[in-house]
Amino acid sequence: MSPSFASSNLFRLFIPIIMIVGILAGLNHIIAATQANSGFVTNLPYILFGTAFALSHSFKQSRIAMVALSMLLAYAVIQVRLQTPLSTGTTLLELSLLSLLLPVACCLAFLFPDTGVLNKGMYIFSAIVVSFLLWSYLILSHFDNGGFNHFDNDLLLAIPEVSRLPLVLVLYSFAVTGATGIFLLNYNRPIDAVIYTSILLSSSTFIFFHVPHMSSTLFSLAGILVIIYVISASHQMAFNDRLTNIPGRRALEMDMKHLGRKFTIAMLDVDHFKKFNDTYGHDTGDDVLKLVASRMLSVGGNARVYRYGGEEFTILFKGKTAKDSKVYLDELREKIADYEMVIRNNAQRPNDNKKGAKQRGANSQGSTVSITVSIGAADSKTTKKPEEVLKKADKALYTAKEKGRNQVQCAR
Ligand code: GH3
Ligand code: MG
Ligand code: MG
Repeated sequence: MSPSFASSNLFRLFIPIIMIVGILAGLNHIIAATQANSGFVTNLPYILFGTAFALSHSFKQSRIAMVALSMLLAYAVIQVRLQTPLSTGTTLLELSLLSLLLPVACCLAFLFPDTGVLNKGMYIFSAIVVSFLLWSYLILSHFDNGGFNHFDNDLLLAIPEVSRLPLVLVLYSFAVTGATGIFLLNYNRPIDAVIYTSILLSSSTFIFFHVPHMSSTLFSLAGILVIIYVISASHQMAFNDRLTNIPGRRALEMDMKHLGRKFTIAMLDVDHFKKFNDTYGHDTGDDVLKLVASRMLSVGGNARVYRYGGEEFTILFKGKTAKDSKVYLDELREKIADYEMVIRNNAQRPNDNKKGAKQRGANSQGSTVSITVSIGAADSKTTKKPEEVLKKADKALYTAKEKGRNQVQCAR
């Protein structure tokens, strides 16, 4: 499906920040409302992260499940262990350990592939989390009662007016949040949004821990956002093509219903791809399809791109004629033709350099090849029916093939 503003990386980056500012601004109301419903609000994060975990299980999003589990455990630690004033016993030490280890646990999820939840990855992850808990237990039993507080302002450099948390941990929280924010900006996968949001909201909880009801409010907010991202991940799974991770045929069919009066549809087909597969193997062929998809994502003219099926892709331009779109399509065609792909050593040399991929020299690391694509485009000038425009684009694509490939043809 077409990307919406609500799933854009900037929206995902700023929404929790805006909410934290909103919560801090309306703090008195929130404290009053929380006190009035204290039982419910205190338990809400358990319900939300439990739901997020169950949804992750249904949608085979084990990495999101790992983050949800970490947040659930962290919230349980807050409720069970950290309800005494920070100046008493080991409370501040426990808070410090939590603020150190929770981001590590969340980021660990990046290292695992997405599978079903009851899987080897989840067992390994759980074992690591248990080792964190054991390590924390050992440290706590070492300091035991009251031994940590005197470190407070001198050794650990806390600035109590802002946060009771040691300054080094405040800086650490900023650094980890910033790093995961950069991941979100670059990749914007649901897992990036989940990890960034969880670390940002839990770190804010730890930094403003002295403010009443901060943990239940911010963890509830994190729980709601994580549930939204799990649903968005399942949506992506349904509408995105698995190999190339760009929208697939179902997404195209949905978007073709909302094209408006003026639009252009282009069909792109990899030239001599059968030959490429025969020469370099199916896996290298798959790499080519991923490469074409990634080049297509940067096509200009606000176009949307889809994998139509096999080695065919579709490009939609809203509000543009075929003549307007041709410049972007030619740019894309050239960008793909100019790209030199490194072929692994074990691949054979191409049988016929004129047909299919063109080999560009060899060395000990492997050789490079380039591929070309042909594109046919048609617009809504003669018919407004998207299916008919698509057929015309397909015909134009065949003209491009007949005329020698590696070119863009527009339907008349
Ligand atoms: P033309 O220039 O006329 O388009 O020639 P072609 O060989 O590209 O066309 P043809 O339609 O005969 O071949 C398409 C090939 O694409 C056949 C199939 O093996 C390959 N193909 C389709 N889907 C995939 C895929 O997901 N991965 C790989 N590696 N190959 C695929
Ligand atoms: Mg084809
Ligand atoms: Mg082809």
